[in-house]
Amino acid sequence: MARILVIAEHRNGALSEGTLELCKAAKAIASAAGAQPAAALLSKDGSLAAELAKYVPEVFTVSDGNLENYTADAYTQAVKAVVDAQDVKGVVIAHSYDGVDFAAKVAMALGCGIVSNCNKIEAQGGNITFTRNTYNGKIQEQKTVKTDKFVATFEKGAFDKEEAGGAGSVTAVSASISASRTKVKEVVETMAGSVDISQATIIVSGGRGTKDKDKYNDVIVNLAKKLGGEYAASRPVVDSGWTDAARQVGQSGKTVTPKLYIAAGISGAIQHVAGMKGSQCIVAINKDPEAPIFNIATYGIVGDLFEVIPAMMEAIG
Ligand SMILES: Cc1cc2nc3c(=O)[nH]c(=O)nc-3n(C[C@H](O)[C@H](O)[C@H](O)COP(=O)(O)OP(=O)(O)OC[C@H]3O[C@@H](n4cnc5c(N)ncnc54)[C@H](O)[C@@H]3O)c2cc1C
Repeated sequence: MARILVIAEHRNGALSEGTLELCKAAKAIASAAGAQPAAALLSKDGSLAAELAKYVPEVFTVSDGNLENYTADAYTQAVKAVVDAQDVKGVVIAHSYDGVDFAAKVAMALGCGIVSNCNKIEAQGGNITFTRNTYNGKIQEQKTVKTDKFVATFEKGAFDKEEAGGAGSVTAVSASISASRTKVKEVVETMAGSVDISQATIIVSGGRGTKDKDKYNDVIVNLAKKLGGEYAASRPVVDSGWTDAARQVGQSGKTVTPKLYIAAGISGAIQHVAGMKGSQCIVAINKDPEAPIFNIATYGIVGDLFEVIPAMMEAIG
């Protein structure tokens, strides 16, 4: 049976959250296309294969010293090796910095079409239609791929994470990966020690409406602490130095998908919404009833955040 193949992302000995979402995407595509979900683990030694096999029925490993650090050249060779060795219909890649970097190369190597940054799939008579945002989310495009095989990248939060619990098979694919033209000299954690808000289940996010750094700390940081969540911000707040860049949500910041996202004093510009629209419950607090954030809010509170948030804190106790 043909496979829909997830290319697993991993770092520091752990699979990324995005990989678990891709496993869910692969399952949905596979069931629509009469195929089977599978995953490829491209690494130095295949040590995460058993972990990955909890999420998909088949894992194919390509293990080679040249895969120790991600490079587009080496990853493309390794994906091609798996596709050449197995019956693969579709290759599913995270729309992450690395995924964007190598997905098009993979499509070139396989001679097939690619759809990038998808957020939904639909099946029409065995054909898959991919939906993706364009013009900063103002327009949604629907695309199909006409070639036999396809490559698709998916934005974070497009699918829920697949639950662990299976025990898939692990098959090594032999491949000789030649050294990449890119040399990784050093891997630097750009925000070492800083918080990863993309993992938070509760986020309280403040925008320019919080007025200044002290007030931002007073209302946003304190409410986040009270709720046991993380605090975050829109870009003007970060640009003004009221909080650090690791906490920026949006197109040029982080994509977050918490259970609860409280947006206070945030207008809801498309670039901000791009990073938080996948949140399960969005509570917007804004004194402007016409603020665009209310278009995507689950609950909207029209009011002054400096009155609403203290009242919320008092109610929480
Ligand atoms: C290429 C590009 C990338 C970008 N990337 C990002 C990004 O990653 N993240 C991001 O956030 N933005 C990003 N932006 C900026 C984006 O376009 C907006 O300018 C920004 O999101 C606006 O931030 P804001 O909502 O905090 O501020 P504003 O748009 O100024 O909104 C402030 C809101 O606070 C409300 N308000 C004021 N006082 C109160 C009060 N007392 N109580 C309640 N409400 C009040 C106002 O009614 C208003 O709606 C990007 C822009 C570009 C061009």
